[in-house]
Amino acid sequence: MEYTHILIRYGELTTKGKNRKTFIATLYENIKRKLYMFNGLEYEKNYDRIFIKLNGNNPDIIKKELNLVSGLYSYSFVVKVENDLDKIKEISLKFALENEERKFKVKAHRNDKSFPYVSDSINREVAGYILKNSKLRVDVHNPDLLLQIEVRPEGTYVFDNAIKGLGGYPLGVGGEAMLMLSGGIDSPVAGFLINKRGLTYQAIHFASPPYTSEKAIDKVKDLLKKLTVFQKEIKLHIIPFTDLQVAIYDNADESYAITLMRRMMYRISDLVAREEKCLALINGESIGQVASQTLESMNVINEVTTMPVIRPLACYDKLDIIDLSQMIDTYEISIRPHQDCCTIFEPKNPVTKPKLDKCKEYEEKFDFESLIVECVKNREIIKIKFAEEKDEYL
Ligand code: ATP
Ligand code: MG
Repeated sequence: MEYTHILIRYGELTTKGKNRKTFIATLYENIKRKLYMFNGLEYEKNYDRIFIKLNGNNPDIIKKELNLVSGLYSYSFVVKVENDLDKIKEISLKFALENEERKFKVKAHRNDKSFPYVSDSINREVAGYILKNSKLRVDVHNPDLLLQIEVRPEGTYVFDNAIKGLGGYPLGVGGEAMLMLSGGIDSPVAGFLINKRGLTYQAIHFASPPYTSEKAIDKVKDLLKKLTVFQKEIKLHIIPFTDLQVAIYDNADESYAITLMRRMMYRISDLVAREEKCLALINGESIGQVASQTLESMNVINEVTTMPVIRPLACYDKLDIIDLSQMIDTYEISIRPHQDCCTIFEPKNPVTKPKLDKCKEYEEKFDFESLIVECVKNREIIKIKFAEEKDEYL
């Protein structure tokens, strides 16, 4: 079929009342940015649809890009014809003939009230024409081909497909958060899900040189480069964490090391987030996945911050997280073998039910506050940008 346009539906956005205008404008801009490499596309938006005129571009290639735009509920490849019943019949038959031997149903929608046929008579006229000129049979309950006809003032759109988009909200309508990004599989997926919900994020990474190598940092940068497919520019804060980790090991029982380390991570993330005007912390924790992700652990760790901590993967199974990481193409980077600060200092028997009193007792033994201030002060800040553009060092 020679499609002329793509018809885009907003879906969930329709429920958002007065924010609707901003949402649609943002989605519109995000789609245009995503498709910037295609020459000759023409855009038009109205109350409930965006239309993209293809001007000869291949819809299958465009599909790949559109599937990565959040806030896009569903879309269809369509053929636009004049508001003329004969022309509508002719193109409908063409769709039908591409689906020979099947059962069909016509579903017309007359949006242009000046069109002389009501929806029902369009249905009847078009179905009759198809029956006369093809082998297809009508089945209104269980059709193989659902032929849809939308008659609008500017023309009639005929299509037979609705491709499900990513859903969620357009990126940039929900404010900014701080993503705790390790080199693992989970946290990049958490970042993607946050983008899908319309939020942008900055990333914070804890590095423990010389125990962790420069390669571990490269891994984090490569992950973020992948994620710039969704968010064009991501600010990364690299925290020199070694002194604080060593202090924990010098002052606490080994079984509490991870709990204390994560309390420090949360404290530092909280400070950097506030400085950067981010409104929430995001991480890749998943309930029960490891010792520090039991509800008892989460309570004790979460106690150090009053910021909302959002865990997009809290209820996901690992295999589903892996599927998502493959979809967003971060999986291969995440499984590179470079060690992270957590894995290097990992105790043999971490507590699964840590006690808050015990944490406080250990933390009183050393001046963690000034070590935290040092971490925040000595952080390195890098902007990771989309495509071939070079990283910008601040
Ligand atoms: P994995 O796929 O190995 O589980 P992970 O990233 O989930 O990787 P965890 O040890 O489960 O690693 O850590 C839970 C969460 O804590 C991470 O998802 C991440 O948000 C945060 N985190 C862990 N280590 C770091 C780090 N070095 N820097 C920043 N955030 C970290
Ligand atoms: Mg994990």
